[in-house]
Amino acid sequence: MSAGTKTGLKPPPLRDDCFALPAGVDWTPVEAALAGLRARLHTVVGQESLPLSAALGRVLAADVVAERSNPPLPNAAVDGYGFAYDALGAGDQTLPLIKGRAAAGVPLGHAVPYGSAVRILTGAALPEGVDTVILEEDVNASAEAIAFRSGVKPRANTRKAGEDVAAGDVILRQGARLGPAALALAAATGLGAVDVFEPLRVGVLSTGDELVEPGAVAGAAQIYDANRVMLLGLVAEMGFSPVDLGRVGDNRAALRQRLDEAAKQSDVILTSGGASNGDEDHMSALLRAAGAMQEWRIAVKPGRPLALGMWEGTPVFGLPGNPVAALVCTLVFARPAMGVLAGRGWATPQGYLLPAGFEKAKKAGRREYLRARLRDGQVEVFASEGSGRISGLSWAEGLVELPDAALNITRGDAVRYIPYASFI
Ligand code: AMP
Ligand code: MG
Repeated sequence: MSAGTKTGLKPPPLRDDCFALPAGVDWTPVEAALAGLRARLHTVVGQESLPLSAALGRVLAADVVAERSNPPLPNAAVDGYGFAYDALGAGDQTLPLIKGRAAAGVPLGHAVPYGSAVRILTGAALPEGVDTVILEEDVNASAEAIAFRSGVKPRANTRKAGEDVAAGDVILRQGARLGPAALALAAATGLGAVDVFEPLRVGVLSTGDELVEPGAVAGAAQIYDANRVMLLGLVAEMGFSPVDLGRVGDNRAALRQRLDEAAKQSDVILTSGGASNGDEDHMSALLRAAGAMQEWRIAVKPGRPLALGMWEGTPVFGLPGNPVAALVCTLVFARPAMGVLAGRGWATPQGYLLPAGFEKAKKAGRREYLRARLRDGQVEVFASEGSGRISGLSWAEGLVELPDAALNITRGDAVRYIPYASFI
């Protein structure tokens, strides 16, 4: 039977590109979607004060001001001998050495007479009467005197009080995530505790009748839930607090109930699967019914569909089920949004323009992200762009971002490579 003879149905023309953008649909460019997210979101987490020892990875809720200068007093930068520069004459020098020494944390306790020198160690506060230090390697010393060549500069080998940080300076800004170096700075400038945001609780839920738990016995038509462990891991790496919401089948009532519970335990919810417009796409259907669904059809590959909505006041990212698309959408859209919710502010990932080690003719009208890595100064891309190819995600160490316009890339052209770590 040839098409159309009995049923009246005619087949549509074949589309060779399943990501081709249907004509007549308003596709939202990535930048517009990001701007929309940025404009709608605000910090949702509470605040607490934590000792520095418990604050690693937390986000500052307020600017931090130095309580104390660093260094607090002028001090010696090397082990050597200290004296007053003005007391030196011309030519080679011999200075009488006084008894005692100045060490870090153990001051000399009295002044050094003009024209005399004193033994001084790195980090020691300069005693009264000392403004210059000569390195011990540049000195011949006896118990009574030191001798050295001319040419030492005034204030050599000393540090001024507050030359690094002055008390009252803002040393760290609100929204900064505290790393080890920031904790060191806070400690050095007299702080024992900092005001930080409570961690953002990010719920992660998988949806789909086909899913089984990793490691369990799977029927022939079933697949393992790969997204949940991936998304929980991403959330943890990003410094947010992951909440495992488990799996739910393609059942609207069950999904609704799970979302009700999830909204109480989480500040934001990431779901994967069921975000499109199909018969079993309950996630988007529920968000649409709740009346708070953002009908964005974002011009991005891989990506569509992405459903954004509110559930009982909690933002929901309805990510695509495809693991590749789920990961890309999490990095590109959910990460900056979660940053705002968590008090970190909006962040654009740092990308690097690097020569392409591949060729590609890119179509107009959508942004594309390719799984990529850097080898020998060139950006390699994964052999397949198929969004079901989970193996490419771990092969890659980042993404190449190709702009919305059409583009013919030949080897050596500069492309924007964004390491995974830039998204964290
Ligand atoms: P969906 O968005 O629900 O239509 O799913 C798109 C594709 O992603 C389908 O092939 C699903 O089987 C697959 N998929 C959905 N959820 C997951 C998951 N948690 N882990 C791995 N694959 C998934
Ligand atoms: Mg599904």
